[in-house]
Amino acid sequence: MPHTPPPLPDFTRWPSFPFEGEFRVKKLDDPVAVEPPRKGEGSSECHSCSAPDEAYIWVSERWRVRAMDRPTGLPMVLILESRSHLDLGDLPNLLAAELGVMTVRLERAIRSLDGVARVHVNRWGDSAEHLHLWFLARPYGRLQLRGTFLPLWDDILPPIPEAQWRENLALVAAWLAEFGGRPLAEPPRIQWQAPSSLTQLASESRVAVDGPESAEPSADAAGPAAGTAVDGAIAEPAARVDEPDDPAGRIG
Ligand SMILES: [Zn+2]
Repeated sequence: MPHTPPPLPDFTRWPSFPFEGEFRVKKLDDPVAVEPPRKGEGSSECHSCSAPDEAYIWVSERWRVRAMDRPTGLPMVLILESRSHLDLGDLPNLLAAELGVMTVRLERAIRSLDGVARVHVNRWGDSAEHLHLWFLARPYGRLQLRGTFLPLWDDILPPIPEAQWRENLALVAAWLAEFGGRPLAEPPRIQWQAPSSLTQLASESRVAVDGPESAEPSADAAGPAAGTAVDGAIAEPAARVDEPDDPAGRIG
């Protein structure tokens, strides 16, 4: 029997819908009798439990916050995780209460960044069992990005500059550390040497400001996260430990 696609839903005509052109609704697969285990479920490996603190931008006794492994289209995308391997519905009262406090704190921290209008908070949990909440910052003034398609726009927009991304991570980590825990993200390092010519200036402006050669800390090294790195190690922004667990349709 030929498949007759149902009519397109209204949201395909919303201004926030990221696509245009001809569409049709996919045929729905038959439901499976037994769902496959999520990552970290049963005997499958949990990437969160095996990730070291250095993969995070901020850690505390019971919570950790990680970033993507590289800048994306939104000013900030972060994931809040419990340190213990628990799913949302498994949280004991202490952690459940702290989740509320951490959610509010992280929302404020991200909203305090320049150019951020709103912070979307999401929990899907379809891919990995270990509790993880997504925090996605919507850029100020970008009304077209309002609402549920924000995770899609994160993949569509060009990545923000790496220096700005690192600075944002350091600011959020420092903000969280005001209330406890350890910040593990540092502000970007800045090329402080005076360029000898405009040509050099132009070429240097195209290289990352925090490249391995720029060993001198910036003049404002007393910035938010200065002196807070553990053992002097410069923490890379957190690696994305469970790649397919992205909000943008790669299951959540
Ligand atoms: Zn786990």
